[in-house]
Amino acid sequence: AKETGRHSFRFYTAQMNERSLARITLENHLRRALERGEFVLHYQPKVSLPSGQIVGMEALLRWDSPELGSVPPDAFIPLAEENGLIIPIGTWVLRTACAQNKAWYDAGFPALSVAVNLSPRQFRQQDITAVIAEALAETGLPPHLLELEITESMVMQDATRVASVLNELKRMGASLAMDDFGTGYSSLAYLKRFPFDKLKIDKSFVIDITTDPNNAAIAKAVIAMAHSLHLKVIAEGVETQGQLNYLHDQGCDEIQGYFVSRPVAAGEFMRLLQGQPIA
Ligand code: C2E
Ligand code: CA
Ligand code: CA
Ligand code: CA
Repeated sequence: AKETGRHSFRFYTAQMNERSLARITLENHLRRALERGEFVLHYQPKVSLPSGQIVGMEALLRWDSPELGSVPPDAFIPLAEENGLIIPIGTWVLRTACAQNKAWYDAGFPALSVAVNLSPRQFRQQDITAVIAEALAETGLPPHLLELEITESMVMQDATRVASVLNELKRMGASLAMDDFGTGYSSLAYLKRFPFDKLKIDKSFVIDITTDPNNAAIAKAVIAMAHSLHLKVIAEGVETQGQLNYLHDQGCDEIQGYFVSRPVAAGEFMRLLQGQPIA
């Protein structure tokens, strides 16, 4: 038993070392990824109901590492959030998304709103409003064509500062969406203290909307309450016609999800735009 114990202990530490080594490797590569140009943005269309017209897109970060392969955001954003790299990465995302949207705008496509995810640490950075103002000024994107996606947890603390940052962003002309709605603890009434334009129903409620009466009821109630508070509603993670039909019947304003398209590279997104029926 003693023997086995020692062996399992050694096995355990070897595994631990492997894990921290993997983390250090990831971190070292992540540190160089920005300067080496390894990040790219993909864009997922947001379509308006009932027309089905593309009215905007969410910019989603992709990391193609020559050494590690394609690393999903869930595998490196929490690390970047911890070590602070999310600040320069987030600035790059903002600028790249604004520049891309301005290029499509200049190319004569109907005006689209590009949504950028802000991370908690980025949102807490002192000059976040200046960083956003600079991205708009440097790219020339009209501010109303930028939407910022902010999660519930980010507005839960320090309500005074949060309100002043969000009011400043609104004053600049950007629009504000509450991301992942329903996964946290805030109430709609609470959210009305902040100048949000839109609420994004989390995909965990959408996934079984056609099979789970509870989630169907939640989605229905959220849409109705949001509308009564003059907020627009978008549902994320829409994968089936049935989910779309239900959301449409409840008056949901926009949808996003694999049913319309996965997030795609800029070139492919442009082909989606070109393939659209003219409004
Ligand atoms: P999120 O902001 O909630 O983004 C939605 C996620 O759902 C994306 O995953 C998207 O690809 C995925 N998705 C879209 N449609 C469907 C669908 O129909 N079904 C399913 N199952 N999933 C769908 P992704 O791209 O892997 O991003 C994961 C998370 O990483 C994002 O969640 C966001 O929190 C974070 N993230 C991505 N890009 C950025 C960024 O530029 N900055 C920051 N701060 N976070 C980012
Ligand atoms: Ca988002
Ligand atoms: Ca989300
Ligand atoms: Ca999420």
